[in-house]
Amino acid sequence: MKRYDVIVIGGGPAGLFSAGVAARQGASVLLLEKNPRCGAKILITGKGRCNVTHSENDPRKFAEHFGRNGRALLTALYTFGVEDVVAFFEERDVPLKIERGGRIFPEFGEARDVQRALESFVRDAGVEVRTSCEVKNLLIDDGLVKAVETRVGNFATGNVVLATGGLSYPETGCTGDGYAWAKSCDHQLVTPEPALVSVKLRENWTADASHFNLKNVRITLRADGKKVDERFGEAFFTHSGIGGPIILDMSSHIRDALKQGEVRLFLDFKPAVASDLFDKRLQRELAEHSNRAFGNSLGKLLPRDMIPVFVRLVGIDPKKKCHSVTRVERQRLLKLFKELELEVTGCEGFRRAIITSGGISLKDIDMRSMRSKRIANLFFAGEIIDLDGPTGGFNLQECWSTGYLAGINAARRQEG
Ligand SMILES: Cc1cc2nc3c(=O)[nH]c(=O)nc-3n(C[C@H](O)[C@H](O)[C@H](O)COP(=O)(O)OP(=O)(O)OC[C@H]3O[C@@H](n4cnc5c(N)ncnc54)[C@H](O)[C@@H]3O)c2cc1C
Repeated sequence: MKRYDVIVIGGGPAGLFSAGVAARQGASVLLLEKNPRCGAKILITGKGRCNVTHSENDPRKFAEHFGRNGRALLTALYTFGVEDVVAFFEERDVPLKIERGGRIFPEFGEARDVQRALESFVRDAGVEVRTSCEVKNLLIDDGLVKAVETRVGNFATGNVVLATGGLSYPETGCTGDGYAWAKSCDHQLVTPEPALVSVKLRENWTADASHFNLKNVRITLRADGKKVDERFGEAFFTHSGIGGPIILDMSSHIRDALKQGEVRLFLDFKPAVASDLFDKRLQRELAEHSNRAFGNSLGKLLPRDMIPVFVRLVGIDPKKKCHSVTRVERQRLLKLFKELELEVTGCEGFRRAIITSGGISLKDIDMRSMRSKRIANLFFAGEIIDLDGPTGGFNLQECWSTGYLAGINAARRQEG
């Protein structure tokens, strides 16, 4: 049986990166991926453009975005941070640029270019890549992983990096396999939950409004009437509810609030204008179109496709002349613009979750090396770890940083 210094399981961003880094240290490295090609999930990141990282390059501030567990990321971020990622991709002809909200994307290319750059990185570093090769188990003896069992036979190894991801978007290959192996050798698992998800609404009209982005809106989350969260930015209606960056980033609060009771969202389409001023604006619009049908008067205030939805929700006859719209009707219209009330009935599941929260407990990983505290030659990288960040490139940066640390340390362990 051929023996490798390092076997990396999972060819996502974390696995590809740690395999290349370990091989560059001189280790013999085998990367095992169950899909026919590595990086299936990379292709769907950032709506096909891949939000590679985020411009916050102070590791402490970056780590704060990961909440309570964020501090554990500091060594990884100081070792391989945002600037290192930018340099890595620029060296491979994928220059990056900062976009709105500090999100960093390929300047010219798309997610496919990121996938190709990683594939050529592992190839040039001399990693042996086996795709369509599903790992079935880790063979452990005397407190060490001795071999990896696959459908096509066993591979002996000195070290293993587990980078099998979480449970989200299972069609990309993420079925939580690594959790079971880690659990079977005494690692604690923090219950995996779908995170960064769209939410379902009681309202049955959202499909009609799902064609366009709601830019620069404010959404307030209230649980049993109490304000829990409020965010400003981009969202969009979906067939069964509402999604988009601000909803995804609120979704963990929404999930928690749903466990307690009634949850409502209040959408302000015009957050930059106070209610009384916006009421004056409505009065001006109605006066300007005084002899027009109400249904044709909202063109300056709303995207065209949204107008029929608004007209239906406000309950004003669209044929009614604007000069006949009553004060009470105008107040209803004002409320729709400034405080559209939406009742949340649930959150989407793993099938459409951007990431998985929970995972291998940080208590069982030495986060300065990514090495298991239970099995001396086992390392972890990427989404499999109990770390979850918001949208904006934070989660991929976690993969690059933890992948780097795991790869370096797995390779060094065999040297020493
Ligand atoms: C729609 C969508 C958009 C996203 N957009 C962004 C974004 O723009 N920016 C950002 O920062 N993050 C984004 N994310 C999150 C990001 O994609 C993940 O954080 C990241 O892919 C996790 O990388 P990973 O290597 O840990 O795991 P994964 O990418 O999940 O890779 C794990 C790999 O392991 C393989 N594997 C699993 N089990 C086995 C087995 N038994 N044997 C062999 N191989 C196995 C899988 O096939 C898979 O290829 C997005 C996620 C989704 C779903």
